[in-house]
Amino acid sequence: MHMIVHALFVPYCMHISFAFMHSQSQSILFRYAQTQKPMAGRVLFIDFCKVLERISLTPKRLEIQNILTDHLKDVYRDAPEALVAVLYLSTATVYPEHFNIELGVGEGMLMGVVAEYTGKSVAGIKDEYFKEGDLGIVVMKYRVSQLFISQVQLDVQAVLDGLRRVSAEQGTKCVAVKKMIILGMMSKCSPLEAKYLVRLIEGRLKIGLALKTVLISLAGVFSEDMAYEVKSAFNRQPDIGRLAECVVDHGIAGLREHFQVTPGIPLKPMLANSSNGITAAFKKVEGLEFICEYKYDGERIQIHKYGSKVETFSRNSENSTEKYPDLMDVYNVCEKDFIVDGEVVAYDRNEKKILPFQTLTTRKRKRVNEKKIDVYVCVFVFDLIYFDGRSYVDEPLEKRRSTLRNEFKQIEGKFCFAESVDCKKAEDVEQFFEKSVDGNFEGIMMKTLGTDAVYHPSQRSNKWIKIKKDYLESMSDSLDLVVMGAYYGKGKRTGWYGGFLLGVYNDEDDKFESLCKIGTGFADASLENIYEQLNSNLCAAPKNYVYKDSAKPDVWVEAKYVWEVKAAGISVSPTYCAGAMDGKGMSLRFPRFVRERGDKDVRDASTSAHIRQMYLDANVEDSEDFC
Ligand code: ATP
Repeated sequence: MHMIVHALFVPYCMHISFAFMHSQSQSILFRYAQTQKPMAGRVLFIDFCKVLERISLTPKRLEIQNILTDHLKDVYRDAPEALVAVLYLSTATVYPEHFNIELGVGEGMLMGVVAEYTGKSVAGIKDEYFKEGDLGIVVMKYRVSQLFISQVQLDVQAVLDGLRRVSAEQGTKCVAVKKMIILGMMSKCSPLEAKYLVRLIEGRLKIGLALKTVLISLAGVFSEDMAYEVKSAFNRQPDIGRLAECVVDHGIAGLREHFQVTPGIPLKPMLANSSNGITAAFKKVEGLEFICEYKYDGERIQIHKYGSKVETFSRNSENSTEKYPDLMDVYNVCEKDFIVDGEVVAYDRNEKKILPFQTLTTRKRKRVNEKKIDVYVCVFVFDLIYFDGRSYVDEPLEKRRSTLRNEFKQIEGKFCFAESVDCKKAEDVEQFFEKSVDGNFEGIMMKTLGTDAVYHPSQRSNKWIKIKKDYLESMSDSLDLVVMGAYYGKGKRTGWYGGFLLGVYNDEDDKFESLCKIGTGFADASLENIYEQLNSNLCAAPKNYVYKDSAKPDVWVEAKYVWEVKAAGISVSPTYCAGAMDGKGMSLRFPRFVRERGDKDVRDASTSAHIRQMYLDANVEDSEDFC
């Protein structure tokens, strides 16, 4: 079997050692290798790096977009086979996110490589890193001072292949091989190439190039005004390589037909807008037919059944199949292939009741043994995305729900339809909301019906509105914020951090903007854990953090952690930079820590556009949607 896999995969990614490869990743790569094309044309890595450098020098999103579009046009004209590699590298990835394949090169290992490469000590590199805040700059600085003699020029495909080889090396003895592969590439790098190679290994280009901009630029190669089509296609199938191939083969207009939702590939889930209460929510759907459903308090889950397989994926497209071996008999709920969307909650089988979210978090994340499960789960399914060979995303909610109810069987305590009611008046909503307050629910979801109530992957709109129990006591929704820095604790908190600088994600220019300082809502035990957790991720002030000196923290933390935070409201602030309008940023009034959101990536955190919209919603009557 290994030999067959190897033979098929070699043209695309040479010399991968499969010896330690995880079986799940292995089967994904096998499927992937079969569909990828071998390459012929060349785009020199140095030319690509020059484009990245130009992008890093412009703060304007539109200019960034134009620079990248021009480059992609050149690539498409001169070496179309290299388009896929250029796109992966532009998004600082080597495989689609849902492959769950990481390079497995930690900061320590990378510093070791840089030290070896530059002939400096690891301690010296560490010092430089803290001074510069960026290992890419450190490596470039030292490379400049050395004689650059390589005659061989790297191309983008070689870099992508090299990084894929690094990711394929696993197990305890892989460090030396990974280092060797990286050093092999570095020896062919000019200073500028070394800078970006290091950043690619870190998984961040740090030049303000957001994924959205890459997608718009890709669209720009083919058409001036079809960016929406390309972004939507990516949300249906988040695989930039295949997307590019499909655009090349069928044009953007062909994406609807040829780049549809596919079982086995998690799509970006549809999201909800929030509302400050029942009356406000009711106003947003006035005149429309709608239903209300319980908002279950667990984790989002997408279940894919295809052929003989069942796979589950989390909100951020992580494959969670190993976490839920007890859900595999969901295979029998329907004979046909399908993708359903739902919420998985902890469940007490004896009492037949839903348990709080905190119970679910105690379940192991990986390699759960079905025979040793102590936290049972039940999935409450609320949507149908794919059924019997066909995407259902463009079908209205009514059709999706009726197919779900007619074609699927429920399994008590394991696979159930989300409970809902048809609502006509605000009183119906109030009654259902009261029932949710009595139960173990987070609140309710209002969902509009009608022909345009399609499933919009990744989008937040008024088609779904969430009303949480605690809306009644505070701001309309909790926010998911990125930890940017920390302040040393005083008094009882001496020896730990006592406060933290949190921010939102600006998905237009790939930056994190400061929003507030937070110090309440933490148990002492969690402050101790947080202290240790953050200390292993301290860094110099990252270039993609937007903040004012008046709120500068004692230490900076790499963008890695997302915390859910509640507050009494949003106000305009001279100290913070989030969602700035007319030069003034937003901040939170009385922010309080709720919990860590380990299931969210920092780029899934609340965005600046979202915070601005929430501010406008609360302060301006009938404001237009910003998001
Ligand atoms: P939150 O932090 O409030 O869970 P979120 O940012 O993860 O929100 P939103 O789209 O803002 O996602 O809120 C909807 C979330 O509520 C979904 O992601 C899902 O996990 C959960 N949920 C629970 N019950 C339902 C339901 N009946 N319909 C849709 N989503 C539901």
